[in-house]
Formats: sequence, structure tokens, C-alpha cells
Amino acid sequence: MTARFTDKVVLITGAGSGLGRATATQVAGEGAALALVDVDEKGLADTAAAISEVASGAKVIQIVADVSDEDAVRRYVDQTVETFGRIDGFFNNAGIEGKQNLTEDFGSDEFDKVVSINLRGVFLGLKHVLAVMKEQGAGNVVNTASVGGIRGVGNQSGYAAAKHGVVGLTRNSGIEYGQFGVTVKAIAPGAIMTPMVEGSLKQIDPDNWEDVGREFVSVNPMKRFGRPDEVGHLVAFLLSDQASFINATVIPIDGGQSEKY
Ligand code: NAD
Repeated sequence: MTARFTDKVVLITGAGSGLGRATATQVAGEGAALALVDVDEKGLADTAAAISEVASGAKVIQIVADVSDEDAVRRYVDQTVETFGRIDGFFNNAGIEGKQNLTEDFGSDEFDKVVSINLRGVFLGLKHVLAVMKEQGAGNVVNTASVGGIRGVGNQSGYAAAKHGVVGLTRNSGIEYGQFGVTVKAIAPGAIMTPMVEGSLKQIDPDNWEDVGREFVSVNPMKRFGRPDEVGHLVAFLLSDQASFINATVIPIDGGQSEKY
């Protein structure tokens, strides 16, 4: 297969772990230059090390930034453009899960925190990256929503509000920017085994979280968790010019879970 990302620049938030890291290694292996953004400096360094194993000559910059802070978002976009001259693909992915609780017990501060990172962070990324892509007349954006953004899951008021909001932002911006040669799409992952999901299972039972996990996926049509590399393959396709007519829509990657209700 031809390398889909030769001479392409890909910007990834939440690049220090999980789905961000899996996507970074996938596109780096296909020739991309990368701007990696995360609040976790060590996570970024570990991702850069993982990239150097699959693509030793890859150009990579690491930017410590909080996606909910507009100055920091401006800075990560400016730094990417100053370094590489353009942004071809943007994986707008950083997010947290937040504490699980019934709505009446869901902390208002917790709600604000989750919405600030998962929704405001995605909006700010769109706002500043889409200006660059419009000017270029090209670009592909993938926002990370969730099955929790297209279905009711329960015990996650902040996450549900934010991820449904990400779907709304995706449709809205995709419809606005298609005319400029720019696509905006979202993925809706089900349960993919990353540190976030491990943390979520440990909230339910810290000592027997692996049993909780087995129980959790027993209702999935495929009876297992997804793997980060499976998401990385999907996101790489959606960020590439092979997906240039997919716009303003949400692609589930969940083993069929969201179709099963
Ligand atoms: P993860 O915890 O492994 O990675 C998330 C990364 O985002 C971490 O490196 C973290 O440091 C970073 N981050 C958190 N807050 C940040 C902030 N304010 N600014 C910058 N970076 C920040 O989790 P993951 O599973 O890879 O999740 C990635 C995305 O996928 C999230 O948006 C999550 O909601 C979504 N998602 C994950 C799953 C799943 O099952 N893993 C399912 C649906 C959606």
C-alpha cells in the first residue's frame, strides 16, 4: 500500500496515551510528520519513543498543553504551523471520563470539568485548526465522540452531555467547511482497552476490575474489548485523503454494540 501520509502533517491531542498514541504510531508509520499534544509530558515522551520504533526518521514535536485553555490551543496550533507550515490531519481526541454517578449525585464541578475538556476542548481545537485548513483549502478533522455520544449509557452526565455535543459540533462544522475542501467527522468508540477504560473499571471494583471487564463485554456482540490499534486504523483512514468525501458524520467502532439495543 502507498504511504498515505507522505509529506502530510498530523496534529493529535490526547497523544500521550491510548487512542491518540495508537493513531500517532499508525500515521507516523505511513510517513506523517506529527505534532503531539497532551497535558501529560511523560505520556508524550513515551509516544515519541513508540513512534521512533516504527518510523525512526519521523519528524515529531511534543507540546504540553491543556485543550480546555484557549491560549494553550492557540499555542499548539501556532507551533504546529510554525514548525511544519500546515496541518493536513487533526485528531481532536483528548478527553477524560469523569466520576460515574447517578444524575442526582453527579457533582456540578465534575460536570463542568468533563464538559470543559471534552466539549470546550474539542470546540477550541476546531475553532483554531479550521481557520488554518480553510486557508489551505484542504484538511481532514476527526473528533473523538463515543457510543456515549450517540446512545444513553448511564452514570455519566458530564460525559454524555459533552460527547453528544461533540457529535453536534461535528455535524455543524462539517456542513460549514465542506465548501472549503475540509472534512469534519467523528468516531464513536465503544469500550476500547486503554488506561481510561481500565480506570473506569477500577471505579466499579478496584480489586476485581478484570472480572468487571469480562462481565462488561459479555453483552458486546463480539464479546471483547476493542484494541487501540483497531481505532488507529480507522482514524488513519478518516484523516487520509481516501476519506475525502466522508463529512459531518459519526462512525461507530464498537463491535456492533450501539446497534444492539
Ligand atoms: P486515555 O486516558 O488513554 O488518553 C487520553 C489522553 O488525553 C491522556 O493522555 C490524557 O493525559 C489526555 N488529556 C486529558 N485531559 C487533557 C487536557 N485537558 N488537555 C490535553 N490532554 C488531555 O484515554 P483514551 O481511551 O485514549 O481516550 C481518548 C479519547 O477517546 C477520549 O476523548 C475518550 O473520551 C474517547 N473514548 C474512549 C473510549 C475507550 O473505550 N477507550 C471510548 C469512547 C471514547
